[in-house]
Amino acid sequence: MEYQKLASVYERLEITPAKLEKTDIIAGLLGETPDELLDIVPSLLMGRIFPDWSQLELGMGPGLLYDSVCFITGVSKDALKDTIRDEGDVGKATEKLLEKKVQSSLFSKKLEVREVYEKFEKIAGAAGAKSQDKMKRILSDLLNSATPSEAKYITRTVLDELRVGVAEGLVRDAIALAFDVPKDAVERAYMITNDFGVVAKTAKAAGEKGLQGLKMKIGVPLKPMLSQIAPSIDDVLGDVEDVAFEIKYDGARLQIHKNGSEVRLFSRRLEEVTQNLPDIVEYAKKAIKEDAIVEGEAVAIDPVTRKPRAFQYMLKRFRRKYDIERMAKEIPFETYLFDVLYARGKSQIDEPFKNRRKLLEEIIEPIDKKFELAKQRITHDASVAEEFYNEAIEMGHEGLMIKNRLASYTPGARVKHMYKIKPVMETLDLVIVGALWGTGKRTGWLSSYVLGAKDMETGEFTSVGRVGTGVTEEQLQEFTDVLKPLIEYESGGEVRLHPDVVVEVAFQEIQESPQYKSGFALRFPRVMRIREDKSPSDAETLERLKVLYEAQRGQAK
Ligand code: AMP
Repeated sequence: MEYQKLASVYERLEITPAKLEKTDIIAGLLGETPDELLDIVPSLLMGRIFPDWSQLELGMGPGLLYDSVCFITGVSKDALKDTIRDEGDVGKATEKLLEKKVQSSLFSKKLEVREVYEKFEKIAGAAGAKSQDKMKRILSDLLNSATPSEAKYITRTVLDELRVGVAEGLVRDAIALAFDVPKDAVERAYMITNDFGVVAKTAKAAGEKGLQGLKMKIGVPLKPMLSQIAPSIDDVLGDVEDVAFEIKYDGARLQIHKNGSEVRLFSRRLEEVTQNLPDIVEYAKKAIKEDAIVEGEAVAIDPVTRKPRAFQYMLKRFRRKYDIERMAKEIPFETYLFDVLYARGKSQIDEPFKNRRKLLEEIIEPIDKKFELAKQRITHDASVAEEFYNEAIEMGHEGLMIKNRLASYTPGARVKHMYKIKPVMETLDLVIVGALWGTGKRTGWLSSYVLGAKDMETGEFTSVGRVGTGVTEEQLQEFTDVLKPLIEYESGGEVRLHPDVVVEVAFQEIQESPQYKSGFALRFPRVMRIREDKSPSDAETLERLKVLYEAQRGQAK
């Protein structure tokens, strides 16, 4: 299949706002996609190249991309940035610049989808010294053989900002429509495999039965189930019949896959972190008695005070590429397991939580203060729960998780049966989509940040206000270092950023505001910390903001 075909579908999706029409367009394309491309086309339609669980990553930020675009269009970086500012994004800017150039270069051969994908694979695989040059060369080659409209979507795909308004829900519906299978079956198969490519192929080849037969695989991480903020313990007790309270450890979530003598660890963002945490691997080998996928929280607890250490401190170990053994000694981790997704040769996600916990107790031989089960209390008595909550806070933990013991595990969903309760309730994890260069004492630093929440309908980030308070000098430096490579373009003192960094923001309330695209703004926002463990897709969505806004209004009445 020619890439131009995909590009023209992107083109149509971009100008079609209606969901049903979009679904038809996608289903049409999937129906025509040859079998050997069905594993990659569904992801490409969402602007993603590799499935979420894949350890392949393109790793090209705006800087490298711009170099390639400048190289093939022959314009300077400043001229490119000006065009991006005028056109609104790098895709349109590249298209425009190439259109001007087009008369001089005739396309000898049409680009194939497979060829584009393979070039992306090569970029992701470029390693070692000079890898950046290699990446730029491959991308320049690719852009050189692309038409202006193809180049528009290639550049956007590279930056993971396709802007055609296709999120997972649409792809799910389109697979169901294209291959005449129920949406539920597609959804379920996607949860288990975490890969729309596999789902589409199976739906086409073997229909609903085939989808039902898809199995979870040890080694392929699943999207984590996400919790909600609980208004109060009483509220949850009023709503849920059978509840378990657990300590909410303030660490990093880990999905642990054990297969025979092999243990692999995945972060909440599904990145493999096995190499970084050899101590946890060793504990897991000893403590997990059979093949399984379990989940837990790794926390750095000070061995003397028994208090958890600062989150940032702990993340050091996740980032570390050298001196790993020394770091393991300096910052020992304790792991507290709270769920099991696979064991006894099959998926466990449909089992109620109480059965999963029981199974977890059966398959884990705890190692004291190293690798244990999350502390749990089952009660329907609010005062017992309050006491447990106070205990958790006193021990230095974040608060409690409240779980419905009858509920199943839904990968990737923010469910209504797992809650968190913390002392500072009003914090949100949002994506930084823009920033302002500081003035006066803050000159040289990016010091005020535009926050975005994902609109699940379109998959795009819309702004929900700005935050500049609560940032220490140390954080200013940290934020600037992290954000600078993500600058897409600048205008005045304002920069637009590639949405990649998640920040935790405290605030007093959510207000309606015509000033921001989302229609919302946060009152008295304060920066807490960068959430390196979270990817933009884990951040709060616009839909959630609306729910929180409504809930808040309800409370005010
Ligand atoms: P948050 O990151 O604030 O949305 O809170 C949810 C996170 O708390 C989960 O993703 C886990 O990483 C973490 N967590 C800590 N302790 C537990 C626990 N006992 N059960 C579930 N999640 C926990």
